[in-house]
Amino acid sequence: RVVVVGSLNMDLVARVPRLPVAGETLAGYTFTQVAGGKGGNQAVAAARLGAGVAMIGCIGRDANGASLRAGLLAEGIDCAALGESASAATGVALIVVDEAGRNSIVIVAGSNGALTPEDIARHEALLGSADVVVCQLETPPETVAAALAAGRRLNKTVILNPAPATGPVPREWLALVDYLIPNEVEAAALTGLPIGSPQEAAAAAAALREQGARNVLITLGAAGILAATEDGTMHLPAPKVTAVDTTAAGDTFIGAFAAELARRSSFDTAVRFAQHAAAISVTRAGAQPSIPTRHEVQAFAV
Ligand code: ADP
Repeated sequence: RVVVVGSLNMDLVARVPRLPVAGETLAGYTFTQVAGGKGGNQAVAAARLGAGVAMIGCIGRDANGASLRAGLLAEGIDCAALGESASAATGVALIVVDEAGRNSIVIVAGSNGALTPEDIARHEALLGSADVVVCQLETPPETVAAALAAGRRLNKTVILNPAPATGPVPREWLALVDYLIPNEVEAAALTGLPIGSPQEAAAAAAALREQGARNVLITLGAAGILAATEDGTMHLPAPKVTAVDTTAAGDTFIGAFAAELARRSSFDTAVRFAQHAAAISVTRAGAQPSIPTRHEVQAFAV
């Protein structure tokens, strides 16, 4: 089983002719409301890709929260540990996308900010039932720290996706994590090193391992993965596909990788499976709608 500790947002997406400037009122073309948040996306990915999944998170007592809960339940995700804040609104992401596909995003954490270390302590038994625990950085840092520490103490496989990029994370976190999985921007923020090539990614991964991270996987978009583990450093190119929308490629990769580790697959098998899943997701529009099922990945891989 995979337990995801993380954020849930309602993404409010407007398509616009161009990104607005300060003080401007623009007419948009279309509006859609879709489930998002890195935690929710990764939970949905792990569920579609074959794992039993439980979510530890916090929504508000509002229509967005109810809709997010229903969406997770429809994916077969256990929501018993999904709390409700009495005071904070459900997290939202206000997204505008222009005709060239560029975006501007405002995230209001809302109830995601109300997920506390006490919530982690309260769900110790659930964490104990996990094979793999997955965290990101869209919930308060003390909550992330508590989740990582609980995962380590309970001897789980702990994955940290240090996203969004905020800068270095506390060094003691790195020693609690089995797989640190940043993208290029996040790896640069963690280390202060430039990442424009697999060679530079290898140097950043080596620096992170030196600081205590056991295994580091830096996702490089269409260039694939730079993996630095006890067994050495490898560049694993991505399958060649025609990219339509890369939103949630990273979330798909992480959910798929976690799901595959929870099935006790080898590291190599899990990475290859996750790369195939992420490659399929970039050929389709949207975040959660683009995440493939296990059958689709198996069909792609043969
Ligand atoms: P994020 O979504 O966090 O920015 P990346 O863009 O690095 O993450 O993508 C995560 C993974 O998704 C990559 O390591 C790769 O396996 C896959 N991926 C992303 N973009 C492409 C692409 N254009 N073609 C094939 N695979 C891709």
